[in-house]
Amino acid sequence: MKITVVGAGGMGSRFALMLHQAGVAVTLVDGWQANIDAIRQAGLQADFNGRAVTARLPIYAPRELADSGVQADLIIAFTKSNQLAAMFKQLTPIIHADTYVLCLLNGIGHEDVLEEFVAKDHLLLGITMWTAGMTGPGHVKLLGHGEVELQSFAPAGAAFADQVVALFNQAGLNARPSANVKASIWRKACVNGTLNSLCALLDCNIGALGQTREAEPFLREIIAEFGAVAQAEGVPLDVAEVYDHVAATFTADIAVHYPSMHQDLVVNHRLTEVDFINGAVVRKGQAHGIATPYNAMLTQLIHAKEQLIGAK
Ligand code: NAD
Repeated sequence: MKITVVGAGGMGSRFALMLHQAGVAVTLVDGWQANIDAIRQAGLQADFNGRAVTARLPIYAPRELADSGVQADLIIAFTKSNQLAAMFKQLTPIIHADTYVLCLLNGIGHEDVLEEFVAKDHLLLGITMWTAGMTGPGHVKLLGHGEVELQSFAPAGAAFADQVVALFNQAGLNARPSANVKASIWRKACVNGTLNSLCALLDCNIGALGQTREAEPFLREIIAEFGAVAQAEGVPLDVAEVYDHVAATFTADIAVHYPSMHQDLVVNHRLTEVDFINGAVVRKGQAHGIATPYNAMLTQLIHAKEQLIGAK
């Protein structure tokens, strides 16, 4: 299977590297010129669980694809949510009728974006608990373990999804087929929609958020809105279980961690994925006539902070 990973950031680099190490033909596509230059010059350089690893992988800017001869059986999307549509508009030279697309981005509603570019029966959705971080152009830090859960968006893609799961497992990516990936996506989005946005706004880590008196009522209100909208979307969420799942992070090892939206916005002054997390709940809530005041306020506050910080 020929694979093109689109978005050679932290996560795209992790998946590309682990698949490459398993002997899979992997090509990268990225929109950040400094990253492309660094990978062309010195290879993708990873701190892979404390071991320095360099992988020589072909990488293209989207504008180079038309003449590249790149062929992909599977495109794995790993841009940020807010970069997804603009990136896929530039991928037409490599998306054909038999190309599959796998989306493992955090957030809700990426299928609404991707359906414009790929047929439903060639779309795979999933979540991943792997982590990764960029330390500079062409450099990534890949620590710890993780897993992947995925499912074809339409039943006709199920056999291909099984092939992807098998290939990922050969690469040590710990993949499993999902019977209800949408529920998993919504459940993970509840984690991002509470911890990410609140820690980015309050400029604190997960443990410090958990020590505030407001943490519990905030979480309960936000997750209740996720639950109501998910229900209307045909995705039942057990909001009490999701609350316990999120609140457990306040006293876990992860409590010292600053969530990725904090890193993106407060540390690196980058635009956030909020429109596909809290913002998606607002959008989808409006479509169903469901009020989502907490998620609307969080989305607006994050956008205001993006402007104040001059995020790009
Ligand atoms: P990332 O920011 O590392 O990379 C995404 C894109 O942004 C890449 O194209 C990269 O080249 C570009 N980019 C990175 N830094 C840049 C800079 N300084 N200037 C210009 N462009 C830059 O994103 P990621 O962490 O790999 O996340 C991809 C998706 O996976 C997101 O939806 C994220 O929520 C999700 N995710 C991330 C993790 C994680 O641990 N990083 C875990 C699970 C899911």
